[in-house]
Amino acid sequence: MVDMGENQSKEIDTHFSALYSTIMHVDMDAFYASVEQLDFPEYRGKPIAVGGMDKGVISTASYEARKFGVRSAMPVYQAKKVCPQLIMRPVRMMRYQEVSAHVMDILGSVTPVVEKISIDEAFIDVAGSVRLFGAPVQIAQYLRSEIKNNVGISASVGIANVKYAAKMASDCAKPDGLLYVSPEETLSFVQSRPVRDLWGVGAKTLQILQRQGIHIVGDIANISRDRLVALLGQAQGIHLYELAHGIDTRKVHAPAEEKSISSEQTFYTPLYKVADVEEVMLSQAHVLARKLRGKKKSAKTISIKIKFSHFQSLTRSRTLIEDVTTAEKIYNVAKELLRDIDVRSGVRLVGLRVSQLNYGAMAQLDIFGDSGRQENVEKAMDKIKDRFGSALVSPASLVKNELKAENREKNTGKKKN
Ligand SMILES: [Mg+2]
Repeated sequence: MVDMGENQSKEIDTHFSALYSTIMHVDMDAFYASVEQLDFPEYRGKPIAVGGMDKGVISTASYEARKFGVRSAMPVYQAKKVCPQLIMRPVRMMRYQEVSAHVMDILGSVTPVVEKISIDEAFIDVAGSVRLFGAPVQIAQYLRSEIKNNVGISASVGIANVKYAAKMASDCAKPDGLLYVSPEETLSFVQSRPVRDLWGVGAKTLQILQRQGIHIVGDIANISRDRLVALLGQAQGIHLYELAHGIDTRKVHAPAEEKSISSEQTFYTPLYKVADVEEVMLSQAHVLARKLRGKKKSAKTISIKIKFSHFQSLTRSRTLIEDVTTAEKIYNVAKELLRDIDVRSGVRLVGLRVSQLNYGAMAQLDIFGDSGRQENVEKAMDKIKDRFGSALVSPASLVKNELKAENREKNTGKKKN
């Protein structure tokens, strides 16, 4: 009775989301500064700050520096005044993005509903994950320890049944904490917090409210909607009225599903040999497999694209019965697709694409088979690459092309965020 099963599971989900708060706001603690302390152990336990090099202001201060009163957006000279031993570090955005991607991957391992709102924070909704992973608090504890153990920095988590309350809860939990607000507690929790903690309340609004003697969210709740609209204008007035009464209909929005992942390389000097094209495909297969694993996805369709010197181009694709996740399998299919193509007129572009993506590590099904073993080998390589960069771990013949492929991707791609 398939139908009954499905109905039943829907009922259970609704039941859980009424019982538990399931919206989490995950926020990395002093993110840039924490990454510096992770990468340079000599800065751990010391007051450091990131930023300052060009604009002369602090981006992020470590908690050790915050004790002295160093804050974000503070001019460096002022920070040095309140904390003379402050160590300044330059912003290394590429590295922070890399760490951020790793954190987002961990969040994605418990739910596909991940809404990244900045480099170091995201909302997730675990309503659909409760049956599989346990109560939201357990999931949050798991995520916090995964981030600490695998990335090496700390995240604070707030859980509530509406987005803005979850964000307020993570603020309260900082640093390195977890705060769960049950559905029944949400309203009183929110109303007890200062107005400035409300998500989206800027300095101007804050000033207007403070002039009226409004300091905590509960004060707003005591004011009529009309008066708030008169004070703050239609949109902001109604918005704050609703927030003060615990109303927030905003859902956690996962980004649109990716339909495919691809990698392409162009050549100024055309390739005339099958072996050369295959070598490019092998490196692309590694790039794609790594991305698939990062997204906990598998693919069913593999396509190749070849452009010739005379600008003619063609594509070939094959859909497989089973899902693939490994570079080895992707490469083997690509090689077969290439077999019937005559490359002797010169290849100017080689592209490899995987599509029909499925969420979930399908390869677990044959974890004891060959591809399971291959996947583990490739996963181990991913880990090393995450730590030391790509060039270090690849079969020697691949290193050159892989670097080229990655550069190309950096140049072309803002396909995803
Ligand atoms: Mg943060």
